[in-house]
Amino acid sequence: MPQSFIPLCIPEIRGNEWKYIKECLDTNWVSSVGAYVNRFESMVADYVGANHGVATVNGTSALHTALLVTGVEPDDEVLVSTLTFIAPANAIRYAGAWPIFIDSEPEYWQMSPREVVDFLEQGCDFKDGEVRNKHTGRRVKAIMPVHILGHPVDMEPILAVARKYNLLVIEDATESLGAKYKGHRVGHLGDIACFSFNGNKILTTGGGGMIVTDNEAWASKAKYLTTQAKDNPVEYIHHEIGYNYRLTNLQAAMGCAQMENLEEYIAAKRRIAATYSEAFAEVPGLTPMVEATWASSIFWMYTLLVDESQYGQDSRQLLRRLQEAKIQTRPLWEPLHCSLAHTQDQPRESLAVAEKLNQQALSLPCSVGLSVTDQQRVIEFILKEKQ
Ligand SMILES: *Cc1c(COP(=O)(O)O)cnc(C)c1O
Repeated sequence: MPQSFIPLCIPEIRGNEWKYIKECLDTNWVSSVGAYVNRFESMVADYVGANHGVATVNGTSALHTALLVTGVEPDDEVLVSTLTFIAPANAIRYAGAWPIFIDSEPEYWQMSPREVVDFLEQGCDFKDGEVRNKHTGRRVKAIMPVHILGHPVDMEPILAVARKYNLLVIEDATESLGAKYKGHRVGHLGDIACFSFNGNKILTTGGGGMIVTDNEAWASKAKYLTTQAKDNPVEYIHHEIGYNYRLTNLQAAMGCAQMENLEEYIAAKRRIAATYSEAFAEVPGLTPMVEATWASSIFWMYTLLVDESQYGQDSRQLLRRLQEAKIQTRPLWEPLHCSLAHTQDQPRESLAVAEKLNQQALSLPCSVGLSVTDQQRVIEFILKEKQ
């Protein structure tokens, strides 16, 4: 029998999605206002413990809006992880600001707090309550840690240095809804945070995003900017240039149904991760991702490091072999300091940890609905490929 295709990470629809979306269709509340938008905003905000949630059309627009409402201005600089999907760096540029790329730490692959502190203490001057990059002369305004792959960044040292230098902390929590740092959910650790409900994320609305914060002024500014900045909606009076960044009621309906099953999704991801990690623990050349003692990861995207010298193939060869076996895998992102889209932003230097992770990492099939049989097929193939 020909073997079926095993995708990397696909949505899981097992709850009230049909029911809630049908209700939108039946009542004609399909567009950008409606009860599900409000309900979804409260569900996500309550879940992370924040006072306000503002739904957006995707995670990237949430990040863009978060930068605008917190007062990041053109020509400001924002520290951001170099090893991440490109969206946060692009959002920084949409706001006219500049990304400063920070290397990963080697254990959990997240933004390195030590590199953040070193950059601020050695690369910057602090006077009159402002931080200036010594090299560019620009004002450093914010730190944007990206909790990648479902695992939190080590936030305490980052929050401490942000307080010391009067910097904002904008969490990109798009990959990590439900993860905990020292018992606290990501998305409620800094000043404001963003989530994504894109198709491959732990929870999806087809496409969507959310800003969460305790700051009421920022939340209402975010709602204003994401709905075309209407000052008088009847007379079409606008005092600012806004954006059409709203999530529709249809999408929010799907989000509410997905939120109802989030804990089950997380349990499934953790179970999948534990099975892989146990299977690969003793294999020379394979290093499974790990969870810090201070963290609870949602293992959004299960990832392994492949060391060619011991495993006998590099990550890209293994990816191609798996592809031939109809098993979809992916490397991690090109580090952003190497990306042609962002190389003008700062002098090129080597950020060695992220570069090595980019060479060695391979993300394995980890859909919430991945069957035991399919996961065994992936495991056996990878064990058999070792040379
Ligand atoms: C998915 C993702 C985003 C953006 O989300 P979209 O909803 O696709 O716009 C932002 N940052 C990171 C790190 C992501 O993985």
